[in-house]
Amino acid sequence: MSTVNLSTITKSFGNVTAVNDLDLLIEEGEFFTFLGPSGCGKTTTLRMIAGFYYPTKGKVKFNEKDMTTVPPEKRNTGMVFQNYALFPHMTVFENVAFGLKVRKISKSDTKKRVLDVLKKVRLDQYMERQVSQLSGGQQQRVALARALVIEPDILLLDEPLSNLDARLRDEMRTEILRLQREYGITTIYVTHDQVEALTMSDRIAVFNHGVCQQIGTPTEIYNKPVNDFVAEFIGETTLLPISYEKTSGKELIFRSKTLGDFIYVKDTELNIATYDENDDLVMSIRPEAIQIDYNQITSEKNVFKGQVSLVQFTGASVHTYITVNEDVTIRTTDLNRGPSTYFKEGTEVSVYMPEDQIRVIPKARE
Ligand code: ATP
Repeated sequence: MSTVNLSTITKSFGNVTAVNDLDLLIEEGEFFTFLGPSGCGKTTTLRMIAGFYYPTKGKVKFNEKDMTTVPPEKRNTGMVFQNYALFPHMTVFENVAFGLKVRKISKSDTKKRVLDVLKKVRLDQYMERQVSQLSGGQQQRVALARALVIEPDILLLDEPLSNLDARLRDEMRTEILRLQREYGITTIYVTHDQVEALTMSDRIAVFNHGVCQQIGTPTEIYNKPVNDFVAEFIGETTLLPISYEKTSGKELIFRSKTLGDFIYVKDTELNIATYDENDDLVMSIRPEAIQIDYNQITSEKNVFKGQVSLVQFTGASVHTYITVNEDVTIRTTDLNRGPSTYFKEGTEVSVYMPEDQIRVIPKARE
């Protein structure tokens, strides 16, 4: 097991800066995820940890050891790729044993270690099968076994579930997490899928344009996004531009041009002194925090009249889209409590955005 410490690393390819001044400390045994859209620098960062790329600037350390320019085969990391990168005409056993052969481990030890790890990924029955005769999910398990058999200090996973269908992805999420906990291995996971990141990680780093936007636990990232990019990338949200108006006791008052009204916010964590009328601010509110049952809304603040424009039934929950002030769409999510509780499209409703559920954040810098 090992910590991974990246200090102000930058990687440029010609005039493209793929990763810009990244600082990151990943703890021993942590499941850490790099999350972000395509091209944001996740894979490049992972490759600098694996040693496939050397940083243009900055340092990579494992524990306190400087690894910045150590070649990949001397780092003791196990890597799993999106396309598995297995040898299709070799058997499962031969694929998993490959890394041990390179390390000149004895035949008897190799056999024991391969069998042990294949049991862990529940593939011991398939040892003699050719990899090309396995399903996608089974191939992914072989790739995991191959990475784990060398007893790496760090496990690196680059979008390992992207090629699997939704049900298998769900199953493999649990499987990877089980293995990670069993081995207690420091794991770095690259994905653009927020559900994977939220469900699997101890902590997440959200990337955009080569810059780390926020590092935090899944609940911190979801509940306290630092800017509009993070709020929108993780989960659903309604984002509305607002401007600071004034403070009244513990209540902050903003103006929303699009809603044509004031927005009242109660948030004890807000640093009131930092707001200014000219700040480029947005408010974010999660769909499950918004109320639309007009009979029960007693608040006089943050209540807006609108019309239901779309109702989406997803099984466990119902999404209701409401158009307010002609062109603002507010999305709400409620648990499915039976057909009689859904609103019909075209219904006039009131929307209430509770004062303590609104997060005021700056716009992300491009
Ligand atoms: P994806 O999810 O699509 O793999 P990513 O977040 O992993 O995206 P990277 O692959 O790290 O993104 O790429 C970051 C940026 O660096 C992109 O603009 C990409 O085009 C560029 N880039 C990555 N590798 C190279 C390379 N070998 N040569 C030139 N540019 C590169």
